[in-house]
Amino acid sequence: MSIARLRRPRAVFIDVGGPLYDDDNYLAAAMSAVNGLRAREGRPPAPAAEMRALYDAVRNGEEPSIRTALAREFLGDPARRGELHSATRPLWVHPPGTLAPDALPFLRGIAGSAVVGILANQEAGVVDALRRDGVGDYVSVWGVSALVGHEKPSAELFDWCLAEAGVGAEEAVHIGNRFDNDVRPAHDLGLGTVWVLRGEAPDDPSPSERAVADLVVPDLVGLDRVLFA
Ligand SMILES: [Mg+2]
Repeated sequence: MSIARLRRPRAVFIDVGGPLYDDDNYLAAAMSAVNGLRAREGRPPAPAAEMRALYDAVRNGEEPSIRTALAREFLGDPARRGELHSATRPLWVHPPGTLAPDALPFLRGIAGSAVVGILANQEAGVVDALRRDGVGDYVSVWGVSALVGHEKPSAELFDWCLAEAGVGAEEAVHIGNRFDNDVRPAHDLGLGTVWVLRGEAPDDPSPSERAVADLVVPDLVGLDRVLFA
């Protein structure tokens, strides 16, 4: 953990689900997909509260994967996680009104100070949503997994974004809300890391996880001034 590591980066990369859009957009798609598959089998919808409880258990590290857990509990077989993934993808959208209210103020605050890039495991349609909501005006590197062909936590997506931005890892900061997909891999590659604790993030990360991030914050408010004070 070193806040000095975050000062005046040449590139700022930002995850989408959590830091920019409400992660509930993904959960809503996964829940619809579960119920679509159940309906095909003549089964009633799964209780929304039970699906959300499972999601919360995954967030807090009590279950390894939301797709596996949903498939096990509500489709009767964890091996159906791939089928659930395929059914979720076309339903996963970011509706108007789900952009975090602090997203545009943060981006305005860093505009002109650094190259800004998206670095996210997302479907290609996220680009249209980000342009619709005004985020696209600030973005010059589109590290969207469905477009690039690599997914976090693989180093390839981070390396692709660094190359596109024309900076070294030590000159870049990554902002994300997951330890496994954002903080850990970005830190290991040498980027500065900001862990935003909302959406899929755990309610109360362990001290050892917190210590990996250079900064742990509840939201993006004031983060532009931390980076470019
Ligand atoms: Mg995320």
